[in-house]
Amino acid sequence: MTGLSDSFQRPINYLRISVTDRCNLRCIYCMPPHGVKLSPRSEILRYEEIQAVAQAAAALGINKVRLTGGEPLVRTGLSHLVQILCQIEVIDDIALTTNGVLLRQHAFTLKEAGLRRVNVSLDTLKRDRFHRITRHDKLGDVLNGIKAAKEVGLDPVKVNMVVIRGINDDEVLDFARLTMEQGWHVRFIEPMPFGIGESLSFVPTSEIQERLLSLGTLEPCLPSHGNGPAKYFRFGGTPGTVGFISPLSEHFCFNCNRLRLTVDGKLRPCLLSDEEVDLKNHLRHGASSEELKRLIKQAVAQKPERHHLLEGVLPTGRSMCQVGG
Ligand code: SAM
Repeated sequence: MTGLSDSFQRPINYLRISVTDRCNLRCIYCMPPHGVKLSPRSEILRYEEIQAVAQAAAALGINKVRLTGGEPLVRTGLSHLVQILCQIEVIDDIALTTNGVLLRQHAFTLKEAGLRRVNVSLDTLKRDRFHRITRHDKLGDVLNGIKAAKEVGLDPVKVNMVVIRGINDDEVLDFARLTMEQGWHVRFIEPMPFGIGESLSFVPTSEIQERLLSLGTLEPCLPSHGNGPAKYFRFGGTPGTVGFISPLSEHFCFNCNRLRLTVDGKLRPCLLSDEEVDLKNHLRHGASSEELKRLIKQAVAQKPERHHLLEGVLPTGRSMCQVGG
């Protein structure tokens, strides 16, 4: 096998990069109202440092990159990062995960810089509820952001809804209807019970699928991009798709192809394990590309076989917004 693979023969070709731990929302399951302790500015990787890591990773076989956070669009000059990552030949897919609040302002420059596609997190279509979940009155901005992303040709624009029992699960049909009526690509995600979201009650994918049957038959279809953890369907003949990401009811660790770079320069082999390999100190002491490659391989070798959330084994070190969700 060429490229990177871990101790369980999983090919590793995907790097998720957290560019900030700041966020302009305070989702009840992700961040406390006062936010989280932020990394000092001096500890945050500069864009050129991220580029050096991505370059070394690409030389080992990483060809897919996603920018996340925190909220990536609150970091100044994100388009510049997109542009310099695009110059790395092997990387053929650069995507962004955002809450969409600032997307309308940035969609065009991001697209011009080389961004291909975007995932927007949106848990409700109701203004009051949006305020309750995110502690901000920004639903209109997010919807405008989604519209703008489509207009500039970011494709696909996927909408990620974390479905929480008793909070927003009564809206799954409304989101599914948007795949039929407006060609949205909606993915329903089971919330993971850790950090501030520890008490979240999830709705298993099988239950959501059963509820959707009232709208028609779901036909399996292929993902438009990549081989991520989602399983995709569409209602016969309709333009959009419905996806399901089920980290709890059908864990997909056996297929995991990713590494995560934290905002302060640690390489994290698994979202749900506290293990990390430090890159920043090496970078700041002049590490060569060969040295970076050695550290990346070390992180890959440490990748655990699977998470054990359901057995109550939770990561304790950092929250989702600090690791890069
Ligand atoms: N700010 C960006 C956004 O909102 O998409 C990127 C970072 S955010 C941490 C990434 C995703 O993680 C969001 O879709 C959010 O809903 C999700 N998330 C946060 N905590 C979660 C949890 N406990 N379980 C499942 N998803 C979670």
